[in-house]
Amino acid sequence: MAKERILKGIAVSKGISRGTVFVYETKEIQVFQTSIPGIYLEREIERFLGALEKTKQELNSIKERINAEIGSDFAQFLDAQVLMLRDREIIATVKKRIKEEEKNAEYIYHDVLDEYAKKLCASKDQYLRERVADIWDVGNRVLRNLLGLTHSSVVDVPKDSVLVAHDISPSEAALINPDNVLGIAIEGGGSTSHTAITARALEIPAVVGIENLMAKIGNGEKVILDGNRGILIKSPTPGRIQFYKGETKREIEYQKMLSPYCELPAKTRDGRQLDISANIEFFVEYVHAKKYGAMGIGLFRTEFLYLTRRGNPSEEEQFRVYNELAKKMKPDPVIIRTYDLGGDKIFSDYHEANPFLGWRAVRVCLQDLNFFKIQLRAILRASVNRNIRIMYPMISTYEEIKKANAVFAQVKQDLTKEKVDFDDHIQVGIMVETPSAALISSHLASQVDFFSIGSNDLTQYVLAVDRGNERVSHLFDHFHPAVLRLIKQVIDAGHKAHIWVGICGELAAVPLAIPLLIGFGVDELSMSPVAIPKAKMVLRALTVPECEEIAKEALKFRGAPEVRKYLSRMISKKFPSIEGIK
Ligand code: PEP
Ligand code: MG
Repeated sequence: MAKERILKGIAVSKGISRGTVFVYETKEIQVFQTSIPGIYLEREIERFLGALEKTKQELNSIKERINAEIGSDFAQFLDAQVLMLRDREIIATVKKRIKEEEKNAEYIYHDVLDEYAKKLCASKDQYLRERVADIWDVGNRVLRNLLGLTHSSVVDVPKDSVLVAHDISPSEAALINPDNVLGIAIEGGGSTSHTAITARALEIPAVVGIENLMAKIGNGEKVILDGNRGILIKSPTPGRIQFYKGETKREIEYQKMLSPYCELPAKTRDGRQLDISANIEFFVEYVHAKKYGAMGIGLFRTEFLYLTRRGNPSEEEQFRVYNELAKKMKPDPVIIRTYDLGGDKIFSDYHEANPFLGWRAVRVCLQDLNFFKIQLRAILRASVNRNIRIMYPMISTYEEIKKANAVFAQVKQDLTKEKVDFDDHIQVGIMVETPSAALISSHLASQVDFFSIGSNDLTQYVLAVDRGNERVSHLFDHFHPAVLRLIKQVIDAGHKAHIWVGICGELAAVPLAIPLLIGFGVDELSMSPVAIPKAKMVLRALTVPECEEIAKEALKFRGAPEVRKYLSRMISKKFPSIEGIK
């Protein structure tokens, strides 16, 4: 029997799957050179143009399918690919060279694309370099059509497969059929890669960044993919299979037990209503938000609109997404966070020594007002639905809010002049996620309609611990008294100024934190959709006075371990037998 082997990667989509490996290889297409007699050159050019047209039709029908099944923002990258097909320079060069060199279309086209891709590879601009995959994605489609080959596509993956690939192109990722693909394991990629985003949206467990994966695994092998721990287990032992069977069964039973909570109101035992909303990265996730019982979108991380297409999204493209989301969620509110890329997440040549302390989010927007205004216009136009709210990330000074609000007022004026309708009473809020914003929140509160506490960044900045660095992850703790005191301070400052205060960092979904946050008086908890039923279950078992008591006590401790121990004791009194509640 083959020896069990554990391959480690990065967990990007939760869940466990057991299946058979389907190795997806994008095979190199073999292109041969042949001479074409002069009288047939026009026909050769027609053949080339016909292949382009056929490819365009294929891409359009894929786009229609994706639009219908998962949502229009998913399909945007296909527009970029259709544009590549229409690239006049490439078409003109191919036509010219076929005539001059009297060679076959596939040979010339392959050569032209190769030169083009090499130029992009040599570019200093990382974004352009990353477009090479798109070029070959489209180019190979055209070549297959020229050569009369069938398309090898992820659509062909058989049932009960764990899809293994070096990488998957954006158009392929969007074609994955969740009925057949139980899990995804990828050699390359990071947590914001197209594959990771798609896997999460389709709720398929996925692990990326597994070193040398393709050399270590073969077609037909039996594997277990653990998307919670970020591992792929090759030839699992009977003991391991048994363990995961148990874990899957427990997970199913647990989800079954939780499912009634999707429908139940988010009310404490003594009747205090809280807003529980969803954090989403992608338009399509509104489906999950509704399924798990969210009362709105508390955080739409719009940066994924910028990460999934060529160049920045236009006003029109953004408007379509915001408008569609607002319509789908109506009458529930949708909080759109403005651009939060920068530092480590931006596609640019601009390297910084400390990206998290650098040119990021609202700082970028306030330096490039034209860029900022495009997004503000799109959000305002979509606000005709009367359920949109806007939120600025990474605010660290009072002046930043004043400036952002002034730009917003200017955009409103422009739209009024243009006779474009929008919600003049749109709520404007900020994320409180820097220590400076938290400390001066009483001043900031006068300028906004709400606060949403970003506990991920707040913890990172308060504790001086990089949230993505494994070496210091033991120091990253939301329950550090310094973080908790600041959260309490922000909630108090908001309430004193009569504005509502929510929390949209990961802490909002931690069951241990829920009594504490209710005790602090938080109005809204926003979290990933799947966490909502558990959060409702916890808060429905609590009363406000007992939460206030717990919060008061918790603030007396000196360190996170003591806080956690105390909260664990408190919560296990309520849920003595429920596993995984912590
Ligand atoms: C946060 O910082 O807590 C937050 C919700 O924003 P992000 O995780 O997108 O930085
Ligand atoms: Mg943040």
